[in-house]
Amino acid sequence: MTPPLSRLAAFVSSHAPARFGDRILGTYDAARPGPTFVIFGGIHGNEPAGVEAARVVLDELRRLELPLRGRLVGVAGNLAALGGDRRFVDRDLNRRWFESDLGRLLAADPALDGAEDRQQRELAAFFEEIDRSTDGPAVFLDLHSTSGVSAPFMCMADTLRNRRVALALPLPIILGLEEAIDGTVMGYLTERGHTAFAIEGGKHDAPATLQNHVSAIWLALVASGNLAAGEVPRYTEHRARLEGSAEGQPRLLEITYRHPVAPEDGFVMDPGFWSFQPVKAGTRLAHDKNGPIRTPRDAVMLMPLYQAQGEDGFFLGRPLSLTKLRVSSLLRTLRLEFLLDLIPGVRPHFGEADRWLVPASVSEGFTRDLFFLFGYRRMRREGVWVVFGRRRPGFLGRTAARPGEVDDEDGP
Ligand SMILES: [Zn+2]
Repeated sequence: MTPPLSRLAAFVSSHAPARFGDRILGTYDAARPGPTFVIFGGIHGNEPAGVEAARVVLDELRRLELPLRGRLVGVAGNLAALGGDRRFVDRDLNRRWFESDLGRLLAADPALDGAEDRQQRELAAFFEEIDRSTDGPAVFLDLHSTSGVSAPFMCMADTLRNRRVALALPLPIILGLEEAIDGTVMGYLTERGHTAFAIEGGKHDAPATLQNHVSAIWLALVASGNLAAGEVPRYTEHRARLEGSAEGQPRLLEITYRHPVAPEDGFVMDPGFWSFQPVKAGTRLAHDKNGPIRTPRDAVMLMPLYQAQGEDGFFLGRPLSLTKLRVSSLLRTLRLEFLLDLIPGVRPHFGEADRWLVPASVSEGFTRDLFFLFGYRRMRREGVWVVFGRRRPGFLGRTAARPGEVDDEDGP
C-alpha cells in the first residue's frame, strides 16, 4: 500500500551533516526504504552544470513531493575551483583516489594541505559518512562536461554492478577509461562496492549540457530503483532527449589510446575535432614541441582538449558490440574463468588476486579480447609480462561480500 504523498514528503535536511557546509547541495528523503543516490557535480571547477542539475532535480523532488525510495544527496566536488573558469587550483581532483594516496593524505598535517588536498580530505570524510549511514551499496553519479563539442556519454569501471544501472540509460558507454586514467573518484567508489559512473553531459557552456544532466539523473533514479518511471515528471521527454542526443553514436566504445599531456609539452589540439568523430589513420590531430601528432590507425575521437588545463590531450576508441558485452556478463556469471588458464603461456599472478600474467608477445588480439570478456584490462608491463587485472569490489572497503550478499562479480 502506498501512503499518501503528504506523509511521504518529509524533506529531512538533518541528513546533511553541518560540517560539510556548502558542499551539500541538498538532501531529499521521503522516509521510504531504498538505496542512497548521490549526485556528484563539479569535481572539475569549470564544469558547473552538474552542480546546477543536482539543484534542479532536488527542487523538483521537493516541489512535487515525489515518493522517492531511499534518499538523494547532492554534493559539490571542487569548492576551491568552482565558480571560476579553471579545472583545478593545484592539481586535478579527479586523480589520486587510491587507498594508498588517500592514506598518506589523511595521515599528513592538514595545515600543509594544498587546495585540492583539502577538498579530497573533505570528500573522503563525506564518502565515509555515506558508508556509515547506508545499509547497502549506494549509487554515485559523477557529472562532468567537456571543453570540446560532444554528445553526452557515460564512463565507468567495468563491473557487473555498474553495467546493470548504466545499460538502462540510452547513452553511449565508454569502457576502459580506468585503464587509461588512474585514480578517478568513480573507480575508487566502485572498488568500495558502490555503483558509480560518470556522465559527460556535453560542452561546458552549451545549454543542452544542463538538460542532459537533469534527464540522466531522472533516468538513473529509475534504473537504481529510487523511483518508478511513472513517478518521474515528463519521464518520456527525458528519455527521448537522451535517445535523441545519442542517435547515430555507438552504444559502446572501448578506449584504446590516451594522449598524455604535461604543461611543458606545448600541446595544442588542432581545431574542429569533436567526441565520437571518426578519424582516419594518419589524420593530424594536434601538435606539440616535437611536431605534429597523428592517429596511427582508424579510430573514434573522444574528449579532445580545448582548454589550458588538463592532463589528457585526447582519447581514441573503437566501437564494441552489445552482444559481446552480454556474452561477457554470462561468462563472468557462470565462473568460466578457468578457461583463461588454458591459454598457452598465461598464468595467474602469484600474490595478487584477480591478476594474470600474459606474455607480452601474445597480449594483443585474441588473448586481449578473451580477457576483456572476463572483465580484465591491461594494467601494466612487468618485464616480459603484461599484467591483466580487474576490479573485484568488496563492500564498503572490505574485500569480501557481506554474509548473505552476493559478490558483485559472481552474482546474477
Ligand atoms: Zn570533468
